[in-house]
Amino acid sequence: MSEDCIFCKIANGIIPTEFVHTSANTVVFKDINPKAPIHLLVVPKKHIPTLNDLEDRELMSELLQSVKDVTKKLNISDYKTQINTGKGAGQEVFHLHIHILANKEG
Ligand code: 5GP
Ligand code: ZN
Repeated sequence: MSEDCIFCKIANGIIPTEFVHTSANTVVFKDINPKAPIHLLVVPKKHIPTLNDLEDRELMSELLQSVKDVTKKLNISDYKTQINTGKGAGQEVFHLHIHILANKEG
């Protein structure tokens, strides 16, 4: 947990947030500024700044499993995923997250 990290506060319940899905080590919630009709963020509970800092292979697979589980749960068959890594690629929140973007449920 990093004290000044917004996603740590969300993932650890310090900022009350509705989770669309959770797993042992990940949470999924809606993006505050959606860039598609459905815009979700899959986030590890642990503070990991970028994909370059992710070394735990089990967590790697759990993150992708959460993408599959939450899209299945919401009946979303067609979607894009995106991971921005580093300022130069547009990363603004330095707590690893996978964007899920979709046009519609079902
Ligand atoms: P990045 O550019 O770092 O890949 O994406 C950060 C994303 O986090 C942006 O799409 C932004 O709208 C979203 N975001 C930033 N702050 C908050 C917040 O406090 N709550 C939620 N739900 N999303 C946030
Ligand atoms: Zn964090």
